[in-house]
Amino acid sequence: MKAILLRFGELYLKGNNRYIFESMLISNIKEKLAGLEYKFEKTFGRYVISQYDNEKESEIVEKLKKVFGLYSISLAEQVDADEDAIKAYVATIKIKTDNFKVVVKRADKTFPISSMDFAKELGGIVLENNPNVSVELYHPETTVNVDIRLNKKAYVFDDIIKCQGGLPLGSAGKGLLLLSGGIDSPVAGYMIAKRGLKIEALHFHSYPYTSEEAKDKVLTLAKQLCEYVDEIKLHIVSFTKVQEAIHVHCRSEFMITIMRRIMMRIAQKICLRDQLGAIVTGESLGQVASQTMQSVTVTGAVVDSLPIFRPCLAMDKEEIMEIAKDINTYQTSILPYEDCCTVFLPKNPVIKPVLEKCEKEESFLDIDQLVSDALKTEEVVVLKRD
Ligand code: ATP
Ligand code: MG
Repeated sequence: MKAILLRFGELYLKGNNRYIFESMLISNIKEKLAGLEYKFEKTFGRYVISQYDNEKESEIVEKLKKVFGLYSISLAEQVDADEDAIKAYVATIKIKTDNFKVVVKRADKTFPISSMDFAKELGGIVLENNPNVSVELYHPETTVNVDIRLNKKAYVFDDIIKCQGGLPLGSAGKGLLLLSGGIDSPVAGYMIAKRGLKIEALHFHSYPYTSEEAKDKVLTLAKQLCEYVDEIKLHIVSFTKVQEAIHVHCRSEFMITIMRRIMMRIAQKICLRDQLGAIVTGESLGQVASQTMQSVTVTGAVVDSLPIFRPCLAMDKEEIMEIAKDINTYQTSILPYEDCCTVFLPKNPVIKPVLEKCEKEESFLDIDQLVSDALKTEEVVVLKRD
């Protein structure tokens, strides 16, 4: 019978609370596979999915590849963990390459033959049935893996399909991603979700300076992230009044720094109101003036009761773009709509802002009022995976 063998990565590092992580992982797997028919089985160190419709196999695989906490999967043949049954199946294998090797693993140490001896014996059977191939122990083109598990079943497979790794979504709590229409912030959301943080998202628009299309683009990005995180509650807040006020009252070189500090204040308010435990941004050290060490310090200084996670901080743009392509957000991110940050953009932003000077510029604004007015414009859209 066909079966899919699932391996989880880092969970083995967990001690007593491992079962909490495991039950989250299992429920996330079931959530991804909702609507499909299959049997799910837990055996020590692995999960097994079987009795599914063969025509749905690639759909199941694609979905499993997007579950955080799964390390790899294999499409296997499940047979009874009995010498004769395994031999009978191995005798039917057709090797499609010039050489091969058999590897036997026994999670079940009561299995009567040692792994090495059994591998040799099975190798002989493969050779008998594939007269034109040879054994290659070091760099085999095909590896026939025989994995004998404690559930008294053996799994025979040749391919290991890499999955996301990371930790089960939700195991780290829930945070708020500042989602622009750019390349970096969707990647930041993906990366932190991969470490187990569920995300909601917050987008600032400056309508009518920014277009409806710019907002739609962010909805599309959030929807694309749902492939991994299943659902995103997107908070959309107008930043227009804030930007106009800064433009009128503050020196232009401080515009971006002050904007970002007000974004952070609004984000913090939403987090505290909605019980979100962290702010997540797509900032990358030194990428632009607003992301120097000093800028990040001054921006972060208004957030006093939450951590700010910046998963892209130490990454090059190239690396971020690679991930954006992998997770399928890149093509959307490069659509040429303006972001609110590009409206009223100063020619010479401060590169190394000093906190006291920013605070002095901000004293010309009624920040509390601007923040609460902005929050009154909040719309909420819940996006879900199709
Ligand atoms: P990105 O590619 O994510 O837009 P960026 O390189 O354009 O990043 P900035 O515009 O300086 O960088 O923004 C840095 C971070 O601030 C973004 O990654 C995002 O987390 C947040 N941010 C910027 N603009 C917005 C916005 N309009 N709404 C919500 N968050 C934003
Ligand atoms: Mg941006």
